[in-house]
Amino acid sequence: MASYPPEPYRIKMVEPIRLVDRPQREHALRQAGYNPFALRAEDVFIDLMTDSGTGAMSQEQWSALMLGDESYAGARSFYRLAEAVHDIFGFRFFVPTHQGRAAENILASLLVKEGQFVPSNMHFDTTYANIQARGGCPVNLVIPEASDCTNCHPFKGNMDVERLRRFIQENGPTRIPLGMITITNNAGGGQPVSMENLREVAQTYRQFGIPFFIDACRYAENAYFIKLREPGYAHKSTLEIAREIFALADGATMSAKKDAIVNIGGLLAMNDETLYQRACNELILREGFPTYGGLAGRDLDAIAVGLREGLDEDYLAFRLGQTAYLAERLLEEGLPIIEPPGGHAVYLDARRFLPHIPQIEFPGQALSVELYLEGGIRTVEIGSVMFAHPDPITGQMIHPDLELVRLAIPRRVYTQSHLDYVVRIAARIAARREQVHGYKMVYAPEALRHFTARFEPL
Ligand SMILES: *Cc1c(COP(=O)(O)O)cnc(C)c1O
Repeated sequence: MASYPPEPYRIKMVEPIRLVDRPQREHALRQAGYNPFALRAEDVFIDLMTDSGTGAMSQEQWSALMLGDESYAGARSFYRLAEAVHDIFGFRFFVPTHQGRAAENILASLLVKEGQFVPSNMHFDTTYANIQARGGCPVNLVIPEASDCTNCHPFKGNMDVERLRRFIQENGPTRIPLGMITITNNAGGGQPVSMENLREVAQTYRQFGIPFFIDACRYAENAYFIKLREPGYAHKSTLEIAREIFALADGATMSAKKDAIVNIGGLLAMNDETLYQRACNELILREGFPTYGGLAGRDLDAIAVGLREGLDEDYLAFRLGQTAYLAERLLEEGLPIIEPPGGHAVYLDARRFLPHIPQIEFPGQALSVELYLEGGIRTVEIGSVMFAHPDPITGQMIHPDLELVRLAIPRRVYTQSHLDYVVRIAARIAARREQVHGYKMVYAPEALRHFTARFEPL
């Protein structure tokens, strides 16, 4: 069995959780249109829907909140955050935003025009939608190993650099206003990107004069994977690795709700001064003054502390160890997951878990619903509900390669016995998998439909 270092913290405050009985869970699901996003949190026992904004802040972060300077402009909190951002990211300019998607919105509004392409390894859903909302076309160019659930490539988040080069040559660099990469690759299983790949991607974008932005949500977890897996990095600190990563790019977007371990916040950083000035104008219109960007002063202080805690190597060893533990326990039960596990989550492979349910009947959604029904566990589908779309020419539905259910692990929140419980519930479902049926989507909004879609059992 996997062993990993114990939590490098102890618990000082607790939040009660409870498992409501099965009739209540059935009722809650019907009310929610079989979409776990619509469940009330109090009806959820173990909430693995997301690691975003769900982490437990440290005593240092809670103390920092008390130091928050709520001045409208030029608050001390902003300068404390600026110091952390410059120390870690090294970009010349940055603005705070209320979340990652706000940073994406501003970046897309400044750079993306109708009919232009934005390549990445894989865009996360909000990035994808923000590029599309400006008439742009997000393009995913991850290495082919990424869609092979059992391929143990150590850096499955890597970009296929050859395909990237060809894509740029075929479409012309003038139609590509920026290039991106997501670290770790959330939509592809939380898989890391190697430093070598980051270097090649940066070099390719630079060769064609395309600005390079990193979606940096889980940069610290990615840095620790590099330390563990990439030759030449074992003796570098995660801070040094992070600096080396960002030195390759022209800017970054980040949701602070991930590796900065806060409940709300984000940032947009860049080197280009003209772009920064335009970002400030857009920020004032949509978020707030450039020294607070839609956040309270105290939030900025919590991010400043959290950015450094997220890079702590004792914490990262525990964090990635805990995720790997959940993955190994599921494998021991013979349950299909994406291997190797990523940093923040374990992804169940719903196509192999429920082979009798075709993609048009949403096997990932079915498994996600079942985890709640069986054990009060909330998860999220990352498959056809999230990504299936009609072909613009033929109108035929295009389904994603993977039908996944993400078990995201909030930072510093759940213990090993919580995870053991999750494994028991998943195994119980597997034992009676033939009884699990598919779903039909009865309501779907145009974009980001997984958040509010409604379903009926088939
Ligand atoms: C969470 C996330 C975002 C969006 O951030 P929000 O704070 O939820 O708006 C963007 N990219 C990736 C990779 C993410 O995980």
